Amino acid sequence: MHQVMIHPATYETAHASVDRAFDLFPQDLEGKKVLIKPNVLRASEASEGIVTHPAVLAAVVDKVETLGPAALVVGDNPGLFSYGANEAAFEQTGLMAAARGYYRNIGLDAVIVPFNPHFMETVSVSRAILEADIVISLPKFKTHGLTVMTGAIKNSYGFLPGAQKARLHKIAGSPARFHDLVVEVFKIRVPGLFIVDAVVGMEGNGPASPDLREIGLILASDNAVALDAVMAVMMGLDSGRLRFLQNAADAGLGSWKMTDIRIDGKLEKMNDFKLPPLGGEAIQDNAAVQEMLQSKTLLIPQPDPDACTACGACVEQCPAQALSMPDNLPQVDMERCVTCFCCQEICPEKAMVLQ
Ligand code: SF4
Ligand code: SF4
Repeated sequence: MHQVMIHPATYETAHASVDRAFDLFPQDLEGKKVLIKPNVLRASEASEGIVTHPAVLAAVVDKVETLGPAALVVGDNPGLFSYGANEAAFEQTGLMAAARGYYRNIGLDAVIVPFNPHFMETVSVSRAILEADIVISLPKFKTHGLTVMTGAIKNSYGFLPGAQKARLHKIAGSPARFHDLVVEVFKIRVPGLFIVDAVVGMEGNGPASPDLREIGLILASDNAVALDAVMAVMMGLDSGRLRFLQNAADAGLGSWKMTDIRIDGKLEKMNDFKLPPLGGEAIQDNAAVQEMLQSKTLLIPQPDPDACTACGACVEQCPAQALSMPDNLPQVDMERCVTCFCCQEICPEKAMVLQ
């Protein structure tokens, strides 16, 4: 039996909800390496509701600090609009301050891991995600044009640095395959605890819609499938009809059936909750979105010879060994490059530019 917490909250009282979440789902963090991953879709104001609110992150950081971790990292890899701008995204959203000095640019250092060859043979994943003893995921309660909703499972898509996200979007090719893809990424590293910012959620054409919804809740669980199923029910969806939840259940990651989920709190369906088109047409048939995806997958890193000091940091850090340094200027082997853009993130001279 899974358990999902539904706790009344404002951003001022987020600490109480987070305390309750840790009571229900105790975490032995003493001496452990902990990584906290908010949803930092892109640089935006916290009031736009696009990212996990800083008050929720601050409450989780404060709680984790009291549990004696050996190391704590707060990080994410923002999406299409904020490649190579991790710091800017964290600063503008207020998440940098909320991270209380534990922010780290996890896009700087990645590891190549095997992936489902139906999509790509390998992907690069932020090393900090893989090396953490425990990952705490902080999704935002939002709709999503392709997966209908974005919660615990979809938040893990940010494990991938750089343009792989756009590339995989494109390779997936259809909303149905994108549902399959998000579960494949989630399986790379399953977080141990999920705490959802549903104080202010998003409806309509998420994940960056102007339609915000005052919900006044923080949700939590140690099981992503159950948590997303509960979010789906709140949105008025039949959780069993969401393909990514079916896939996750088939993969043994949990159950979306309400009979398998104990609710701590009160589960209520929201009246007139505005959903995106259920088939994923919002993104699939949107020419502007498709064009942007296409353009992002065409980006390649190139060194600026006037700015590069030939320090070699990018060559050393490239997880795909796609960089060499003939004639004191990095050269990119596009056959090997996985467009993670770690080289751009790491360059101290801002000499690696995306073209
Ligand atoms: S050269 Fe390609 S694979 Fe290597 S760090 Fe840069 S973007 Fe990533
Ligand atoms: S990290 Fe920047 S400055 Fe150093 S070699 Fe690479 S491109 Fe040049």
